[in-house]
Amino acid sequence: MVKTFKYIILGGGVAAGYAAREFAKQGLKPGELAIISKEAVAPYERTVLSKSYLHPECIELILSTEIVKADLAAKSLTSAGGETFSYQILLIATGSTVIRLSDLGVQGADAKNIFYFREIDDADKLYEAIKAKKNGKAVVVGGEHIGMELSAMLRCNNLDVTMVYPEPWCMSRLFTSDIAAFNEGYYAKKGVNIMKRTVVVGFTANSDGEVKEVKLKDGRVLEADIVVVGDGIRPQTALFKGQVEEEKGGIKTDGFFKTSVPNVYAVGDVATFPVKLYNELRRVEYAEHACQSARKAVEAIKAAEEGKTVEEYDYLPVLYSHQFGHAWEFYGDNVGDTVLFGDSSPESSIPKFGSYWIKDGKVVGAFWQGRIEEERDAMAYVARVRPSVQNVDELAREGFSFARKI
Ligand code: FAD
Repeated sequence: MVKTFKYIILGGGVAAGYAAREFAKQGLKPGELAIISKEAVAPYERTVLSKSYLHPECIELILSTEIVKADLAAKSLTSAGGETFSYQILLIATGSTVIRLSDLGVQGADAKNIFYFREIDDADKLYEAIKAKKNGKAVVVGGEHIGMELSAMLRCNNLDVTMVYPEPWCMSRLFTSDIAAFNEGYYAKKGVNIMKRTVVVGFTANSDGEVKEVKLKDGRVLEADIVVVGDGIRPQTALFKGQVEEEKGGIKTDGFFKTSVPNVYAVGDVATFPVKLYNELRRVEYAEHACQSARKAVEAIKAAEEGKTVEEYDYLPVLYSHQFGHAWEFYGDNVGDTVLFGDSSPESSIPKFGSYWIKDGKVVGAFWQGRIEEERDAMAYVARVRPSVQNVDELAREGFSFARKI
């Protein structure tokens, strides 16, 4: 039997949750909307959205259901269990999947207690391992967002933590060497060991099949009870290959998240969309975008039904994190020259600093770190309006007050 819905959201992550909330806000009739997710739980945000936002009387939650075939021409989805779903409008919100070391051919990478981190189930498994390996040794592979956050979390759980990454400094895709120097110094102060400019080439396991050692390319060998890998993700677009236009590794959309196929929208990590501010197509893997893109797509769907129009998506990149009690946020574009200001010593009792990125004489990116949430709005605004800078030394002296006076 085919289950038919007016709207189907495929995926049960951040974008799916916000899209469902926007549908409910705009008005839904019972049975109009289904969310299909391979996860066993309702959409959750890896930060704020709770299940209570959803309206179960109007939304059918089809959980633990993996879609293995999508026929966009026939408007039909088929699950691994053989069920078929049809829709009038499809919102693709399938997000990303982790890159596994076993897929890269790393020797011994399927040993027990090697973890990846994407879904709630991954968090539960890691939690159990932390309890089982109390005060043990953890190796974190990767120095980007997930590697940083999980190293801090493992250290806070009293594990002896070593981070390994090939780049010259942490968060190298965003951080300047100055920002990284603060963070690496702060992590070292908290007891995290950092090994840079090398990669993991293999693992050994004990007689129970549990990971025991991590082998590095430079010949060093680390003992490990737990390994957490954060070596990147890839967008989940395989279901739609050859059926929809793609660009930059994602599904190409317009500024309303419409794809090249009528009545099919793509949001969140999978969408490659026009960034008005920079006049280029981009695909981003940030929570704020997942939430905003989902809202915009649903607004556009509902407006079209009523013969109305909505404003095109006007995205400002936002990235944030919080580790060892220190928040940081970044707005805009991290291109061009940089200037660092404020107190960025890891030894300082209350570090508070920031950085601007300057391109073609304009501030295009703004970063802050420390317990200074009051700077948030000014820093976001400066990245959005991109004011001119006459004198870079003066900008460094002014620091946050430059953004506040814009
Ligand atoms: P996801 O949230 O990944 O959801 C995709 C959903 O689709 C999942 O439920 C998946 O199971 C389901 N799915 C996929 N394929 C199928 C299928 N074939 N059938 C059925 N269901 C399917 N971003 C930030 O900006 N700041 C942060 O601090 C930050 N921290 C993060 C921490 C963690 C641990 C993780 C994992 C991510 C973090 N991110 C952060 C990134 C952010 O969470 C993602 O950008 C966001 O989740 C993307 O939302 P999405 O809905 O596109 O995809």
